[in-house]
Amino acid sequence: MQKKETYEWGDGVFTLLSWFKKDKVRNARVLVAGAGALGNEVVKNLALFGVGQIYVVDFDKIEISNLTRSVLFREEDAYNHSFKSEIVAKRAMEINPQIKVTPIVGNLFSEVGFGLYNSVDVIIGCLDSIIARYLLNRMAMRAGKTWIDGSIENMTGVVRVYTPGISCYECGLSREEFNNIMLRTGCADVFRMQGNAGRVATTPISASIIGAMQVQEAMKIIHLSEDEPVPFKTLQGKMLRYEGLTNSVNTYKYASWKATCPAHERWDNIIKIDSLSAENSVKEVLSILKDFLNVNAIEINMRNNKFIDKIISDKPEKEFLIRLPESKLDDYITDNEELRKLSYKTLFHKCFIENIDEYFPYPEMSLKDVGIPLYDVIQVSTDKGLFFVELTKDASIFNLA
Ligand SMILES: [Zn+2]
Repeated sequence: MQKKETYEWGDGVFTLLSWFKKDKVRNARVLVAGAGALGNEVVKNLALFGVGQIYVVDFDKIEISNLTRSVLFREEDAYNHSFKSEIVAKRAMEINPQIKVTPIVGNLFSEVGFGLYNSVDVIIGCLDSIIARYLLNRMAMRAGKTWIDGSIENMTGVVRVYTPGISCYECGLSREEFNNIMLRTGCADVFRMQGNAGRVATTPISASIIGAMQVQEAMKIIHLSEDEPVPFKTLQGKMLRYEGLTNSVNTYKYASWKATCPAHERWDNIIKIDSLSAENSVKEVLSILKDFLNVNAIEINMRNNKFIDKIISDKPEKEFLIRLPESKLDDYITDNEELRKLSYKTLFHKCFIENIDEYFPYPEMSLKDVGIPLYDVIQVSTDKGLFFVELTKDASIFNLA
């Protein structure tokens, strides 16, 4: 047996592959959205390949029913009500101790800083709903990144690869699907994921096959280079469909890129400010921004979340102070007995704040508590125009400093 530190992962194995570039893989950063059946397979394979930095996002906890198709989960995890992303990260690093897997417990849209989307090489979607795909696509397009979507049902599975300028998930949605999303979100930029995505029947086989294909595509994207030709074809702008019932695999052209699609809004020209963190108070951040941008009037636009100051119930008419990001509202209502009981029989009206300026009533609250995640990029409106500003101080939390 070789001793610790005397070997490098994949030496003498992957190095036999003509296309495999050890340094590219070791330095690669991959964001995995979802830590369910597909997420388990995907992270396992990324770990086996030795992808150096993996980020796994999921807000869910492990249940007994997950065990049948999640290679990294154990019975005890379900009994302990452990978070999926945390267990996936821990077990993947047991498989390969030379990589770093960072779990993020939270919502992929409102609780993952945009700085992270911006700094990865590729994004892999292991999601189970149209609405989650729609939102991940928005983030990927904003960041100018390719994302690899996987979906499974029974003995069937599909892999689709979306690359800005070639294809976009939102462009490919039917009118009916799009209307359903609008109905659930209220408007394009508001988000509530804690709905019940319809559970579909899947098998460990479809999860392994589709998860494996997704990682194979991710490895190709990591190796794409403008200078050197590559000996493979990617699925960019295409869809691969695996049909277990008939043992068929087909690839189709699947590219839709419409000029008017609102998802193509690219966030570039990002200003990095080393002293800014989501842990800073609103007051501190506004003052640093004013100095740095040399402006008089300033407001931070909450694009992916809103700050809920209070909610008011209809019957009886009563006010409840909330002071939380909208992404935390459902959990708050579920955990509060009075609100939970009321929620069955009355409507709540939300009093929210979308733009944070000097009149924000809680200037001592941190950005994080207001609803802006660590390492986010914030949209700032000023008298000199619109700016995108990164909370660069938080980069170290994600090993990116
Ligand atoms: Zn589009």
